[in-house]
Amino acid sequence: MELLRTASELHRFLAGARARGAVAFVPTMGYLHEGHVSLMREGKRRAATCVVSVFVNPTQFGPSEDLSRYPRDLVRDTAACEAAGVDALFLPEPGELYPPGAQSWVEVTEVSQGLCGERRPGHFRGVATVVAKLFALVRPDVALFGEKDWQQLQVIRALNRDLLFGIEVVGCPTVREADGLAMSSRNAYLSAEERQRALAINRGLGEAERLLAGGTRDATALCGAVREQLRAADIREDYVEVADGATLRPLSQVAAGQQARLLVAGFLGRTRLIDNAALQG
Ligand code: AMP
Repeated sequence: MELLRTASELHRFLAGARARGAVAFVPTMGYLHEGHVSLMREGKRRAATCVVSVFVNPTQFGPSEDLSRYPRDLVRDTAACEAAGVDALFLPEPGELYPPGAQSWVEVTEVSQGLCGERRPGHFRGVATVVAKLFALVRPDVALFGEKDWQQLQVIRALNRDLLFGIEVVGCPTVREADGLAMSSRNAYLSAEERQRALAINRGLGEAERLLAGGTRDATALCGAVREQLRAADIREDYVEVADGATLRPLSQVAAGQQARLLVAGFLGRTRLIDNAALQG
């Protein structure tokens, strides 16, 4: 596996790689876990070459968020990529992606509204901007993102369509711990006791899915099942919402045949966790 630190090293690598076939790309912020690895494996299934980036993107963190304490372990990340059969790991410095004087931003207007977009002002502008830069540098044939960050996935799909990147954007299912907690680099912040309480998020999603299967289509009732679990586990709600899976517009009912999504964000102490589930109407 090649370690690439600059755009010119990346370009040199890609010139050879493209001659061998399609290129898959998995952008990450590192502190890799099995969720990330599932994207890499899917990338290797779909393309001859898989490139992974690790970059903790400063512009997607708010001023009171966890940029400075975001977990980092490059030695472990390198080993994880190598074990997953990744061909190149791109590790840019901030100056490589944000040249001095950088003043250009990518704003995806509609799907960035509400949910995490509303609670984390500027977050999706940062995400869309860095992903557009990475897409412009790597120019992959296929790029893989996790459904764990459902709204982010819709932002990337819109960005890819609107800015004519022509990349095949693939959403991959959320990988969970054996007890159901969605894997996340931020789980490292949780104490043992918080880690146990965090299970209430997935439990709540499961309750709502069961209610829907039993014929409950009312969003307030479906969200209520999640809220009940959050309250019992003393998780502070950031949002619980039923939305259309593609547009992310809020729904008051899940109509028959509708591809809806139930999205949750909550705080355990200072740690903010998100999760979501499909609500197939
Ligand atoms: P991050 O490093 O958190 O920015 O995530 C990098 C990519 O991995 C994003 O596309 C995430 O959606 C995806 N990802 C993170 N956690 C999971 C998970 N538990 N299952 C599947 N994909 C994930």
